[in-house]
Amino acid sequence: MTPAFTYRGSAARIVFGAGKRAETGAWVEKLGCSNALVLSTSHQEDDAARLSDQLGDLSVGVFAKATMHTPVDVTDEAMEAIKLAGADCVVSLGGGSTTGLGKAIAYRTDLPQVVIPTTYAGSEVTPILGQTEGGRKTTVRGDSILPEVVIYDPELTMGLPLGMSLTSGLNAMAHAAEALYAQDRNPVSSLMAAEGLAAFKRSLPALVADSSNADARADALYGAWLCGTVLGTVGMALHHKICHTLGGSFDTPHAETHAIMLPHTVGFNASATPAELQPIADLFGATPGAGLFDFSKEIGAPQALKDLGLTEADLDRASEIATENPYWNPRSIDRVSIRNLLQDAWEGSRPAL
Ligand code: NAD
Repeated sequence: MTPAFTYRGSAARIVFGAGKRAETGAWVEKLGCSNALVLSTSHQEDDAARLSDQLGDLSVGVFAKATMHTPVDVTDEAMEAIKLAGADCVVSLGGGSTTGLGKAIAYRTDLPQVVIPTTYAGSEVTPILGQTEGGRKTTVRGDSILPEVVIYDPELTMGLPLGMSLTSGLNAMAHAAEALYAQDRNPVSSLMAAEGLAAFKRSLPALVADSSNADARADALYGAWLCGTVLGTVGMALHHKICHTLGGSFDTPHAETHAIMLPHTVGFNASATPAELQPIADLFGATPGAGLFDFSKEIGAPQALKDLGLTEADLDRASEIATENPYWNPRSIDRVSIRNLLQDAWEGSRPAL
């Protein structure tokens, strides 16, 4: 029997295919804009400058200071650049950090966004903005935050280093895993989540064998779109709460933290949601948490929180923060069970379930 559900489709326009970045100018014009400010991190400034050149008269320049976790002072500086240049839209070229800056500008101005993602983080298809000020991360949601056009061009991911490709892929898979048991899941989100997981199951081992395999790059980016979309449409649970805690309070790197935690949080929830997590068991074998752990080990992804510089003492504080104001979760949580879960992830041991 199909249970009751509500479903809302995304208003974003998705353009997917090798070489599609060449259509960026046409999309800027379709949005009714003619003065695009191209955004990037300093690391990707050359790529942003190339894109700006390709846009010709449609570009008013490059702002290449996007930074992880969207610090408000960087956004303030970007807002000055927007005003000075008279920009009427932004083109964000990069990973979640650059997309975050574009969203922060759109949140303040309602300017349209064209996003060209170069990692698998998935932020480009969510109406969620996380920003930091004075060491505190806050999250807002809103229609103006969701980018209008997303151009997925797998050629731009060819240079994503293998290690980052793996952790970014596992970060995306974590969105799909939590979407499978989300309280507000619907038939479409569950289909997209399972398909996204399957795309990474195929593509990540293929990238380990040859990181310049164009078909595997396209498959991984396809998975990123699916996993990002479910992140934007249904609620996340324990996994995301723990990763936000570790990233926000202990400054652990975003994608690596997700990659390490994924088998443990899925293993923890598996006893409460065996039917919902069956697609993971079917894809990865064993039990959902152990199957994901074996997969991540096989592809050579990081496995232990202790390798991210966390100490055992940090785990006490982390379990305290993660259980204050918890997100909804399919299995009830308490400080002791979360402390145990963090211990396993810290040691990098294989989950039982
Ligand atoms: P990132 O954007 O910080 O990128 C990491 C580094 O890799 C940067 O220096 C970047 O320039 C570089 N890089 C990106 N693509 C590259 C490529 N193809 N080749 C070479 N170098 C490349 O990392 P991320 O994991 O994509 O994003 C993390 C950020 O995104 C975090 O701040 C996280 O909170 C946010 N995020 C937000 C959402 C949301 O829905 N709001 C979702 C996912 C992630």
